[in-house]
Amino acid sequence: MNVPDIIIAIDGYSSTGKSSFAKLVAKEFGFLYLDSGALYRGVTLFAQEQGLIDADNRIDPALEERLAGLDLHFDTDGTHIGARCIEAQIRTLEVSSQVSPIAAVPYVRAFVDRRLREFGEKGRIVMDGRDIGTTVFPNAQLKIFMTASEEVRAQRRYDEMVAKGETPTLEEVLKNLRERDYIDSHRETSPLSRAEDAFELDNSDMSFGEELAWIKGLIQGRFGIL
Ligand code: C5P
Repeated sequence: MNVPDIIIAIDGYSSTGKSSFAKLVAKEFGFLYLDSGALYRGVTLFAQEQGLIDADNRIDPALEERLAGLDLHFDTDGTHIGARCIEAQIRTLEVSSQVSPIAAVPYVRAFVDRRLREFGEKGRIVMDGRDIGTTVFPNAQLKIFMTASEEVRAQRRYDEMVAKGETPTLEEVLKNLRERDYIDSHRETSPLSRAEDAFELDNSDMSFGEELAWIKGLIQGRFGIL
């Protein structure tokens, strides 16, 4: 399918399958996939390693200044801090449990937004997150808001973590999802919300093949492509 040079913005609650879907779409159309959550996770890992966030999620204001020297970027093998690949570390429950408070800080959002927008200039990207269609790229030509039942979401994240060798309980994973969704939807700066012009996709009972067929139909209808 010959898709124009558009930006596809995919938002939604935690573990709705945004990144799997976004990767699939990027591969199918030859687009670049960008995981905005990975940058928030990278800042969280950095804050933890620098001792700038405590167990009660109190964030040391020194983080703002330290961010100026943080080389957080995407490389071929995933997210990096300088030469170090942090892809595995940023997916742990330890990082997940503190990422939403970090992502609620306005200067952290400004730091991440600047990096994300650099990719938008050329189009042909699929980006997933919480505020891509509302704040990062409000002019994205195609916006999708993903949902799925809580049980399905918790089970998916649990399976993913177990496959990577972690040993959480399903209850811990569910608790983390609920906490993140609550903080993400209630923060003051760029809260998670559905853009008015976003198309909703509930994939609780859908296969990847069905998801792909759904977006192809959407693109055909919107851009008049065969
Ligand atoms: O997408 P993922 O679950 O990896 O994102 C981790 C966290 O980063 C989210 O729970 C949310 O707090 C934050 N995030 C955000 N805005 C985005 C992407 C992620 O606030 N665009």
